[in-house]
Amino acid sequence: MPDQSSPCVFCAIAQGQAPAQVILQDELSLCILDIAPFSEGHCLVIPRRHVPWWHELSQAETASLFELARRGANLLMEAFAPEMVTMYARGRRIPHTHIFLVPTRAGEVLDSFFNALERFQESPGLLAGLGQEERLAQAGMRLRARAAQAGGH
Ligand SMILES: [Zn+2]
Repeated sequence: MPDQSSPCVFCAIAQGQAPAQVILQDELSLCILDIAPFSEGHCLVIPRRHVPWWHELSQAETASLFELARRGANLLMEAFAPEMVTMYARGRRIPHTHIFLVPTRAGEVLDSFFNALERFQESPGLLAGLGQEERLAQAGMRLRARAAQAGGH
């Protein structure tokens, strides 16, 4: 449990001491609506116990959490008819395990974010190519040719 100086909002929700739109629950986990959704219906699945990182969950908590994630995703597909439900877990902002279930369509916020990440992952290879001596020489030639055409202005 977190200390009194840093109350955990997910612990408070799990204990019924803070409000939440609860969609599904069992003895170990809850599926709730995110209060700052990336798309309509965006849910979070959280364990009742304060566990900072998802890989520190017990086997029973893991089974419960992923079962609620699966059921929640199917509810989202039925209710909002997205292309798919994106799932991810990070946990740096609120250190209580929470799995995002985000109804996703092409071009929406999260879809664009992951597309940008893919381009970022590809970029080191592209940038390494640009730094090769031959590529630098080609770039230099192109720019000097432009400079010559422009007559120095
Ligand atoms: Zn907590």
